[in-house]
Amino acid sequence: MAKMNRLDPAASWPDRAGLHLSTPTQMPKSSSNVSPFTIRLKFHGDLPFFLGARTRRETIERALLEKTSVKDVIESCGVPHPEVDLILVDGWPVDFRHTLRADADVDIYPVGLVPTCFTRNRLQVSNSTEFIADGHLGTLTRNLRLLGFDIAYDPRAQDRQLLSVMEIESRALLTRDRRLLMHAVVQTGYCPRSQNAHEQTIEVVRRFDLFSAITPFTRCLRCNAPLQKVAKADIIERLEPLTKIYYEQFRRCTGCGQIYWAGSHFSRLRTRLEGIRRQFSTTDV
Ligand SMILES: [Zn+2]
Repeated sequence: MAKMNRLDPAASWPDRAGLHLSTPTQMPKSSSNVSPFTIRLKFHGDLPFFLGARTRRETIERALLEKTSVKDVIESCGVPHPEVDLILVDGWPVDFRHTLRADADVDIYPVGLVPTCFTRNRLQVSNSTEFIADGHLGTLTRNLRLLGFDIAYDPRAQDRQLLSVMEIESRALLTRDRRLLMHAVVQTGYCPRSQNAHEQTIEVVRRFDLFSAITPFTRCLRCNAPLQKVAKADIIERLEPLTKIYYEQFRRCTGCGQIYWAGSHFSRLRTRLEGIRRQFSTTDV
């Protein structure tokens, strides 16, 4: 089960937050009382990927006329909230609901780059193992299923169906549609940076720290159901003549009934799998 994001205020910071709020700043009673103010946002790691080709630099300034949640300001720059693992406002950790109402410097960190002293203030989970992929990620889906991961995928699904399954089954959303990733109901998700399925697979394994959970050839590439070992005698009438002669080990999909064995197709998949494994040095494992 994917865990929920930690949306609650950082419990370990009440004293420090109290100090911060005790400064003589006058808190407005309504948005109409707020003077115009400027937010300087610094995006760390690879988050500038989302800022657009023209503004692909680390820092962006936003002039605001009314108090605004830090989540809305970050997403107005093009960065979906599931990509954000830590937010510091003038050096203090906040959650997505934090309201900005005066000049501030905001630091935004992606998963994997949160400074050690703020580990407890992380906003994302990194260990999801169940996913739902949008209709453009068919090859990524097959690769991840090959590694044994549970990936819901329907190329005909509309966005609202995708989000509904994601919510009901507590899956992390994989999509390159950043607008979809910004949807308020998305708790956990990831936008593959690369357009290449092999590189996308590496990215997802890294983002969700999946390397130790890889169990190749345990899941049906077609329908996502688990595979089960099956005796040759039970399926022999479904095999081609040469397959009957040369192969002894078989697995059957518990969902669609597809039969798998270590044939030439298996060799190609094994090669692809080893290519993925090679991307991870011993320091990553
Ligand atoms: Zn199947």
